[in-house]
Amino acid sequence: MSHDHNHEHDEEESGIALRVKALEQILIEKNVVNAEALDEFVDIFENRVGPQNGARVVARAWSDPKFRQRLLDNGVDATAELGFSGLQGEHLKVVENTDEVHNVVVCTLCSCYPWPVLGLPPVWYKSQAYRSRVVREPKQVLLEFGITLPDSKKIRVWDSNADLRYMVLPQRPEGTEHLGQDALAELVTRDGMIGTALV
Ligand code: FE
Repeated sequence: MSHDHNHEHDEEESGIALRVKALEQILIEKNVVNAEALDEFVDIFENRVGPQNGARVVARAWSDPKFRQRLLDNGVDATAELGFSGLQGEHLKVVENTDEVHNVVVCTLCSCYPWPVLGLPPVWYKSQAYRSRVVREPKQVLLEFGITLPDSKKIRVWDSNADLRYMVLPQRPEGTEHLGQDALAELVTRDGMIGTALV
């Protein structure tokens, strides 16, 4: 399945759901796909793929400097080490928040997003308002998400597309030196990996 830049509109979603259902029925009747394979596919995206995967990647990077470096050098290979790869994750670039830089991810054209590590994008990520405003006035948009950054911090906005998708590596919170990877992963939120929240 390739990702084309067709624009998605939330109000169309119930219509889309009906069309998907009809299409599913035809594909099964014509023996193009079987119901088990479809159920498997739905299970993957409802239960197995989601921000909990990205959280494990972040926790590992916080705990293992060599993995962190591999992750920043090659997001696809490093996340595949943890078993996260495939659809919509073929070209993943991980960008690291530091004391100097805060990163935010958007897809100005539509809704490109790294599925294997973050699951499916939230509705606001696909909204026209977010897509246009975060580029023009990132500081104001982050403020509306509840993030206040010091004036000295640079905000970098990364525009995703079908060929390159981004994930933010948040800064490890202070006072977490004693935590293991499982506990660290629980601190990491989806929005923290998009850059619209701090961890
Ligand atoms: Fe897109």
